[in-house]
Amino acid sequence: MIEIKNLHKHFKKNHVLKGIDLSVKEGETVAIIGPSGSGKSTLLRCINLLETPSDGILKLDDLVIDAHHITKEKLLAARRNTAMVFQNYNLFANKTAIENIAEALITVKKMNKKGAMKIAEEFLGKVGLENRAHHYPYGLSGGQQQRVAIARALALNPKVILFDEPTSALDPELVQEVLQVIRNVAKEKVTMIIVTHELEFAKDVAHKIVFMDEGLIVEQNSASEFFASPREERTRKFIDHFI
Ligand code: ATP
Ligand code: MG
Repeated sequence: MIEIKNLHKHFKKNHVLKGIDLSVKEGETVAIIGPSGSGKSTLLRCINLLETPSDGILKLDDLVIDAHHITKEKLLAARRNTAMVFQNYNLFANKTAIENIAEALITVKKMNKKGAMKIAEEFLGKVGLENRAHHYPYGLSGGQQQRVAIARALALNPKVILFDEPTSALDPELVQEVLQVIRNVAKEKVTMIIVTHELEFAKDVAHKIVFMDEGLIVEQNSASEFFASPREERTRKFIDHFI
């Protein structure tokens, strides 16, 4: 379903992604871990073309994107087929929880307001926030705001949801409620790529763990194999550091 081949990204002289090959199957949850600066966010941002890859091929089902021939149509198609959940939620501050979701459906899916509000309500329910529908972001906790952002991503029904450290801006006591929502989403066989520093969560939720360092995938394996028997020295050091 997602196939990334030999993806490179340069920021001027800084060669940040040095040939990434990655496949993600439909319904699969993939966790990307690795040290700061290893290129994890850049990889996610290249997948939805928030960043333009310097070289390589991206496939999202039958949408094939060659870094050297990115047309406006392909860019829009990549955006339509992906949704991103950011560290800082990125909700519209002047819209309520339900409006944040409905607005996305109206702009991206061209739905009418009534239909969009109905779907928005349904998805707020999925993240346990039906009783916060008419609250503005400033009246919600960080965890609740992030749950709205997740509901918004889900409501768009993209081919893949990309999460960039969805819990790292949260106070520790709010982390678990967001991780629990993501676990529930994973059970519904939504395809997800999650960059996270929560290794226990990664182990628990992901089918596959990808370890990146210095712009390369050093190792990838099923979650159980990855943690039980890391093959590379660099992986072992990284895991040990967290335990
Ligand atoms: P972290 O765990 O700290 O979030 P990361 O693995 O997500 O790190 P990236 O944010 O992808 O790392 O950054 C990888 C490298 O790319 C860094 O050297 C960073 O400075 C550089 N970089 C990222 N975005 C840009 C940009 N927009 N312009 C220039 N350089 C960038
Ligand atoms: Mg990052």
